[in-house]
Order: sequence, then structure tokens, then C-alpha cells
Amino acid sequence: MARGNRYVLLSHCLLNVNAKVLGYGSYSGAMKSLVLPIIEEGIGIFQLPCAEATFGGLKRWGMTVEQYDTPAYRRHCRWLLEPVMDQVQDDIANGVSVLGVVGIDGSPSCGVHQTCYGYCGGTIGSGDWVDRSTKSVRLDRGQGVFMRILSDMIAERGLSVPMASIFEGKPSRVSWEEIKKELQR
Ligand code: SF4
Repeated sequence: MARGNRYVLLSHCLLNVNAKVLGYGSYSGAMKSLVLPIIEEGIGIFQLPCAEATFGGLKRWGMTVEQYDTPAYRRHCRWLLEPVMDQVQDDIANGVSVLGVVGIDGSPSCGVHQTCYGYCGGTIGSGDWVDRSTKSVRLDRGQGVFMRILSDMIAERGLSVPMASIFEGKPSRVSWEEIKKELQR
């Protein structure tokens, strides 16, 4: 049978850059350097929903992990992920190999090893709120909210699904082979 019986879960925008905050995006559609080798290897691709685009829409501002880490956003992530986890759990129970999840470091939602902190909020156009926010933004270790909820839900269901990530600044340097090694560790 041609069916490969295995797949990897990818953050939504790795297959659809158009979900990103306006102004971001280092490829035109899907990240070919990651996606093409997966397809050529006969591995299925499960596209995760984009938590930010379905929450704030395409006119949202870029935000940080502290800004997204609210009860409402966590609930939104969990709501999006319930059917995903139902499918993943059932697939595993039926012998499908779920090779892992690939997220995006630096994202306040999809970061796996690294996320972004800072931004204090406040009014735009008065005082120095914007300036203070811009100066406070930084990348550091930690998970984005969506990936943290996904990790929790994987554990809650007694499953083991590894996670890896890409840093999207240089898509030409993204290597599926390296990511695969990280997923197999
Ligand atoms: S929330 Fe995740 S999938 Fe959506 S744009 Fe950000 S990094 Fe991409």
C-alpha cells in the first residue's frame, strides 16, 4: 500500500505565510526549504490552526508572550486544539506515527524553545508608550502560548509527541534533516 502512515504537525504559517502579522514573512507562500523535503520523503503534513489570525485577525498588531498569556487567549488555543488532539490521539491509537510538531521560535504563540517578551501596552499616540514598548521587546528562552497549551494537552492525554522548531529569519538555512534529528532525540 502506498500510504505512509506517518505525518508531522506544522505551525500554520509554515504552509501559509499569509497568516502572519502584516510586515512579517520571509517566503512567498509555504516554506519550501522545510515543506518540499517532507513531501518528497512521503511524510504527511498536518497543518495546525493559526491561533493569532483566528483570534485577532489580519489587522492585529505584533504582540509578545505576556500580552497573549491571558485566560481568553489560552481558552481560544485550547478550543482550537481539542479537535486536533482528538485526531492525533485517534491516529496514534490506530498505528499512525506522529513524528512531532514543528513550531516557530520567536513567536509569542508558536515558539518552542524561544519566544518574545516585552511590550507594556498603553495608548498609541500619547506619551512614550510606543517607545517604551519597542525598547522592551526581546527574544529569550520559553514557549509561546499556543505551543505551551499544545504540550499540556499532549501530556493530559498521556501521549508523547516531540517538538522542534525553526527560526524563520533565514528560511534557506532551514533543514528538514536537522529538524528530524531534533524530533528523534
Ligand atoms: S500564531 Fe503561529 S501559525 Fe500563526 S502566524 Fe504566528 S507563528 Fe504563524
